[in-house]
Formats: sequence, C-alpha cells, structure tokens
Amino acid sequence: MKTLLVEKDDTAVRAHVTDVPEDRLPEGEVTVAVRHSTLNYKDGLCLTGGGGLVRTYPHVPGIDFAGVVESSTDPRWSPGDEVILTGWRVGESRWGGYAEKARVRADWLVRLPPGLTLRQSMAVGTAGLTAMLAILALEAHGLEPGQGPVLVTGASGGVGSVAVALLSAAGHEVAAVTGRPETEGYLRDLGATRIVPRADLSEVSPRPLESETWAGGIDAVGGAMLARVLGQMRYRAAVAAVGLAGGADLPATVIPFLLRGVSLLGIDSVMAPIPEREAAWARIARDLPKDKFDAMTRPATLADLPDLGRAILKGQVQGRVVVDL
Ligand code: NDP
Repeated sequence: MKTLLVEKDDTAVRAHVTDVPEDRLPEGEVTVAVRHSTLNYKDGLCLTGGGGLVRTYPHVPGIDFAGVVESSTDPRWSPGDEVILTGWRVGESRWGGYAEKARVRADWLVRLPPGLTLRQSMAVGTAGLTAMLAILALEAHGLEPGQGPVLVTGASGGVGSVAVALLSAAGHEVAAVTGRPETEGYLRDLGATRIVPRADLSEVSPRPLESETWAGGIDAVGGAMLARVLGQMRYRAAVAAVGLAGGADLPATVIPFLLRGVSLLGIDSVMAPIPEREAAWARIARDLPKDKFDAMTRPATLADLPDLGRAILKGQVQGRVVVDL
C-alpha cells in the first residue's frame, strides 16, 4: 500500500512516499480503504517530528481519514460502509491516514452523515469538526444569532475558515481576526462581515476590561490574543478555546470572569465522545454551505505533504487541504 512514511535517524526526521506491506498495519477490528485525508496543524508536527507527539518510528501520520470499510471483525461495521475517523491519537501514537489503508478500533469510527461526500468530510476534518464542537458549546451556553458579532481568531486557518463559514451560515455576524490582510476577500466570501487585523489584538492590554464588543468567540490562537479577547467580551458571553497557534500561555486576569460573568469553554475534539461527534457531523452536513468548499479547499497528494507540513507550522496554509489517496 502506498504510504507516507516518516523515519528518524540520528540527525533528522524524514517523510517520504513508499510501499509498505499491509501486514504492518497496527491491530484493530476495522480495516479501511482510505480515500481521502487532510492536513491539520498537528499533522505538521507529526510530519516534522515536532511537539514530541510521535514517539515510535517509522510512523504514518494523518490524524484524519475518510474511506470505505474493507473488512471488520466488529458487527457494527460491514464492508462498503463509508466512515470518517478523526482524533483518538490516530496519526500520533499509532499509524494514521496518510496511506491507502488504515486499521483502527471499531469504537472510533463515525458513519459518513447523509448530505456529505467522503471528500467533503475531509475538507472539514478535525479542524472543521472542532469548529462545529465550539459552535455547539457556544450555543449550549446561550449564543443565538442577533446577539452581536462573534469573533473568530486565526480566521484564515483550518479551524477558523470553517468556523467563519458555519457561524455565518447559522445567521451570526462574524468578525474575523487575521494576520494576513491578503485573505480579506477569502474571509468575506466565507461570510465574515468584519476583518480585525491581528496586530489589534496581539499585545496584552494594560486594562483587564475593554469595551464590551463580542457576543461570542472562537479562539484558535491562545496567548496574548485570548487574554485580550476575554477582556472585550460582552456581559455573560463565552469564548471557546480551541487552539494555541500563537502560544500556550494565557497572560490574563480573572477580572472578565468576575465582573462580566465571561465564560471560557474548553474544546477537545480528540477524545470527544461519539454521540457528540455524530451530532456535530450531522450539523456540518446540514449547515456548511457546499458552495464554499471549493474556495476553502485545495487538493494535495501524499508527496506534497512534507512541504505542506512545514508550511502549516509557519501559518502559511490558507483554509483546508484535501489529500487524495
Ligand atoms: P492553521 O495553521 O490552519 O490555522 C492557524 C491560524 O492561526 C493561522 O492560519 C493564522 O491565521 C493564525 N496564526 C498562526 N500563527 C499565529 C500567531 N503567532 N499569532 C496569531 N495568529 C496566528 O491550524 P488549524 O486551524 O488546523 O489549528 C488551529 C489551532 O487549533 C492549532 O493550535 C491546533 O493545534 C488547534 N486545534 C485544536 C483542536 C482541539 O481539539 N482543541 C483540534 C484542531 C486544532 P491568520 O493567518 O488568519 O492570522
């Protein structure tokens, strides 16, 4: 099976396309013929040996894949079923989706929802699923369209792009924070009505509270930007913390929580329970405007991934990449 294999020697970590016999796949109940995979920030780390995520080499990255069940020893899955896998540390601590076949636990798979193709599901991928989980968390907290602008940070990245499109489709006014002014047209096409330059939010404010601006927030950046956003939330509004593209620290005070009743909602897609994933995928299939997929997505092959992995770590990938196997 054609595979993107990452190998490590004394001097470097190298990724290359090669043939790997199928009997080297890990143990698991379900073998899937992978049709598409994608590229997330974490894949960039796994492709380059960064972040200490991969402990054992040789390794096959790819934290997401979509494909067709080839064989299953678990009665829940049959040959021909169309399935999606995201998370569960697949592609990090065990072999993932950058190969023509993958073998995983039956408990980890989600059925492709009606209304979405396998390829579209990978245009969404972990990044988009996470954006949807964040929106569901904000809605559970009380966010409704008409309450005011919802801020999305890291907006031209994977999580951000899908968040902008989904929030706009749900009827929200969306403000998009980007450090790349050239993506303004792209973000407005996805549904952003306001563009906020990254520089406006990249320094910690000397004042813990600024004017009440945002009815909700989805933050893919962390660091000073998240601290800043917390101080700009409207009374009782919530921010969903999704990522750390700008840093893992949080140089904030508790003042926004105490004086404005602001909430910080943590979002994890990796170990999220299956019923939550199914609900999120169903909403994605229903709400994500299919005409936005083309603008949001670019195709790639396994051979393109080493370069793309380096690019996503530098914040240079716009939107989502779909890897065709
Ligand atoms: P991308 O690289 O596609 O997007 C990140 C975006 O953040 C960039 O496009 C850029 O947007 C912005 N950005 C990058 N560097 C900086 C910086 N130094 N300061 C401010 N903004 C910056 O990654 P993803 O969208 O795939 O992932 C985003 C984050 O979410 C990552 O940290 C990832 O690990 C995390 N994540 C978490 C998940 C979870 O389950 N909690 C699941 C998936 C992802 P722009 O150019 O528009 O400014």
